[in-house]
Amino acid sequence: MDLTKAELKYLPGMGPKRAELLAKELDLHTLDDLIHFFPYRYVDRSRFYKIAEIDTATAYIQVKGRITGFQMVGEGRAKRLVAHFTDGADTIDLVFFKGLQYVLDGYRPGVEYVVFGKPNRFNGTYSFVHPDIETPDPTRQTGFMPLYHTTEKMKNKFLTSKALQKHIYDALRLMDAQLPETLPADLVAAHRLMGLRQALICIHFPRTAQELEAARQRLKYEELFYIQLSILRQSVLHRNKYKGFVFTNVGELFNRFYRECLPFQLTEAQKRVLREIRADVLTGRQMNRLLQGDVGSGKTVVAVMSMLLALDNGCQACLLAPTEILATQHFETVSRLLAPLGIQVALLTGSTKKKDRGPLHAALRDGSLQVLVGTHAILEDEVRFANLGLAVIDEQHRFGVAQRSRMWLKNTTPPHILVMTATPIPRTLAMTVYGDLDVSVIDELPPGRKPIQTYHLFDNRHAQLEEFMRGQIRQGRQIYVVYPLIEESEKSDMKNLMEGYAHTCEVFPEYRVSMVHGKMKPAEKDAAMQEFVSGNAQILVATTVIEVGVNVPNASVMVIENAERFGLSQLHQLRGRVGRGADQSYCLLVSRYELGKDTRRRLAIMTETNNGFEIAEADLKLRGPGDLGGTAQSGLPFDLQVASLSTDGPLLQVARNDVSRLLDEDPLLADPKHAVLLENLRRKTKDVVNWSAIS
Ligand code: ADP
Ligand code: MG
Repeated sequence: MDLTKAELKYLPGMGPKRAELLAKELDLHTLDDLIHFFPYRYVDRSRFYKIAEIDTATAYIQVKGRITGFQMVGEGRAKRLVAHFTDGADTIDLVFFKGLQYVLDGYRPGVEYVVFGKPNRFNGTYSFVHPDIETPDPTRQTGFMPLYHTTEKMKNKFLTSKALQKHIYDALRLMDAQLPETLPADLVAAHRLMGLRQALICIHFPRTAQELEAARQRLKYEELFYIQLSILRQSVLHRNKYKGFVFTNVGELFNRFYRECLPFQLTEAQKRVLREIRADVLTGRQMNRLLQGDVGSGKTVVAVMSMLLALDNGCQACLLAPTEILATQHFETVSRLLAPLGIQVALLTGSTKKKDRGPLHAALRDGSLQVLVGTHAILEDEVRFANLGLAVIDEQHRFGVAQRSRMWLKNTTPPHILVMTATPIPRTLAMTVYGDLDVSVIDELPPGRKPIQTYHLFDNRHAQLEEFMRGQIRQGRQIYVVYPLIEESEKSDMKNLMEGYAHTCEVFPEYRVSMVHGKMKPAEKDAAMQEFVSGNAQILVATTVIEVGVNVPNASVMVIENAERFGLSQLHQLRGRVGRGADQSYCLLVSRYELGKDTRRRLAIMTETNNGFEIAEADLKLRGPGDLGGTAQSGLPFDLQVASLSTDGPLLQVARNDVSRLLDEDPLLADPKHAVLLENLRRKTKDVVNWSAIS
């Protein structure tokens, strides 16, 4: 019998009630689930610590010694019982806020106890708050004691961390012979990894810190290996299933555009990326390429020239943007660039009139319309092409994988896909969440740009700020003033925005102030936006609706109010709205005075660098993998338990190389020795939607 799939209720000592509780509370159903539920922390019981050794880095430890006396301190809610505790050399306080009588009755001065917990630092001295206290027991297990997460409901039924520990111990013993290796033997050997069986035992019951580290390393590698296997296998399958268009002609349109219509010299980075794209579309496989380039790096012209590659080979091309404003801007740019070649471009958005849609749909279907620019509206089923060869998707972060794969359906041969983003993606995310995409980078700005100067100021300096703004407007510049507007605090944010708008109008009576926010009707929003784009309004008060893509080269100042409430990548995106013209641009981050450590760091990073990649890496480090919860983690084929995207980048690269070599040798995992990989892959990714199935 396969014990890994055995239900928990059959584990001796478990019983159906507890099994049900574990299923409900922790989503654990089988023995295999149980042994993969890892401790969140360990108490170091491998030795007794000296009180003198305790410092800020000290984790959960044990100390042996005696209570020298009790003392009641404070009053009301701060009332607490302090037990002075000595290890013979130094003393430390044990502090209790609850169950005071129980402590007084239960423990006596002068008797030897073992105290364990995590020392807290308060007012410069250390203490244990509500530590566990035991009488020394030489038969008790040593090494590291695992602590498992439990819930209130579990604790009420005495299903504590200790109880879980016992069940896991029993399960591991029971399954001992049935814990076969899940990684290829040559990789285990090459990386000197701990075997799976030993790693599982050691992650629950390590005897030493080294043993725990080795177990963690092995399990991290395994997680990252299977993440990569899942992603890279999907793209192998996808490539096998679909042939891509082959664009052999670098023809007429592409060359004429390059010679006659290009308004500037391409940067080296733009040329390199175009070469990468041209190589892609010659392979006979569908291109899935991510083009990263900071705001203002010139992605649009690369997109346009890629579209010409398609047109030169008898295909149509389209460009998708996340918002109506952005789609309209793109439509104008692309039309202008392609007009000299006599190429007609159409725009399709949610507000395209019904009567215009009919002819547009027909022209797409009979192939007479070659280039379409638009929003999500392009994805609708009734939009069909005669022969769509290339789809460019701008601003990846608003489009999910699901939407990307809907593009594939637009043709029997899926179009080549070029995804463009200005949000630099940290390397680890590029290898995971976007792991099925090849990546090109424009890492050079067009010549002559002046770096944006960024300053952080506290909100007591509004008067000086307004003086500065007035000076800039006198020089003919325009200014953005951005306020946060997030759903959770929508009401107060809205009030804040309105007050900000009123205040700005009051302070600058001689100028026109326009306002846009996400709650406005599209027509109102467009009108307000247009005021600013045309230069009629000198100041635009806005929420983050302007974050993406808006291009007003004359705007040279970005004021961000409540800057402490924005994330790093958002701040960077907002800043990217300025610095588009020849003038010196400024970004002014206004925040309140009291700031947490991370927030201060965030704002400091913004003043230190304009480099989007540095900012993205710093962002990932600051937020950590936990906070990526909604965004990055959810893009993974399964959740990571041990490995972390923010700190295990190098190991991720190793795993990716290993998997990629393995798939080069055996793309379909057909070799019988790889059957175990397929089976584990299926098991690990069982709850996850398979997007490739959509294609
Ligand atoms: P983004 O990458 O943010 O989409 P755009 O494509 O909008 O950037 O380009 C920003 C500005 O830089 C545009 O006005 C564009 O015409 C200009 N530009 C792009 N490439 C070059 C270049 N090689 N030399 C000079 N200006 C360029
Ligand atoms: Mg752009």
